[in-house]
Amino acid sequence: MKHKPRKRFGQNFLHDQQVIDRIIACVAPQAGDLLIEIGPGQAALTGPLLASGAELHVLEIDRELVSRLQTLFSGNTNITIHPCDALQTSLPRIAGNRPFRLIGNLPYNISTPLIFHILQWHEQLVDMHFMLQKEVVDRMAAGPGSRTYGRLSVMTQFRCSVTPLFDVLPESFTPVPRVCSSIVRLQPRKTPLTDAGSKGSLERVVTTAFSQRRKTLRNSLKSLFTTEQLTAAGIDPGQRAEQLSLSQFAALGRSLSYHED
Ligand code: SAM
Repeated sequence: MKHKPRKRFGQNFLHDQQVIDRIIACVAPQAGDLLIEIGPGQAALTGPLLASGAELHVLEIDRELVSRLQTLFSGNTNITIHPCDALQTSLPRIAGNRPFRLIGNLPYNISTPLIFHILQWHEQLVDMHFMLQKEVVDRMAAGPGSRTYGRLSVMTQFRCSVTPLFDVLPESFTPVPRVCSSIVRLQPRKTPLTDAGSKGSLERVVTTAFSQRRKTLRNSLKSLFTTEQLTAAGIDPGQRAEQLSLSQFAALGRSLSYHED
């Protein structure tokens, strides 16, 4: 029987073979790789990933799809199917604390929280290839001064280099989504871009600054810094969050951990 796509799990299944081939060529999986795929669905990417000889772990929330995958890949010892919610799962535990590569045509309804969840393991991640809403990839790759530059851009770029690869039309999926999609490659930085202070301080500064992005930093950051502290960190209090570079946000992260110590 055909699977009825479930909207609540963001199910838009990729059927365009050219797009599938292009994604696999970008990922270039190798025997010896440890791959984790989030949301294998009806196995559009799973089959070709497995054909490379890599060790593959897939995380799928939909029990009906899990049982189809178990039937489809029964007897294949290179794949482990994990019936779980990727948002509640420790990927390093799945990987047995080995370095791993991550792939996913991500459910669009949870893609941003999922990216933040995943970025916490940037040190164990070799690379990531994701299909996302084009608008999300644009936000990830945006620089200062752009309307789309925000928390997602700063936090992703601070941890990873971001390479948008190509766009995918809605007609490549069943059911057809209302939005255009893009493939993006994220490569975690081997060494931090710069010191951003103690754990969590950059995230606090960035979240607070962009929660009122039209306000000047003097106002949007007043719960964290006095005007004098902003100036001492080399920041013009009359600027807005969208004008700050990654290194300026890092300077604020350092300043926050210094004066909160
Ligand atoms: N990879 C398939 C493809 O390219 O056709 C399916 C992509 S579909 C956009 C997203 C998949 O993620 C679905 O199979 C859905 O059931 C699964 N999914 C949704 N939320 C999830 C979650 N929290 N954890 C794991 N899988 C999830």
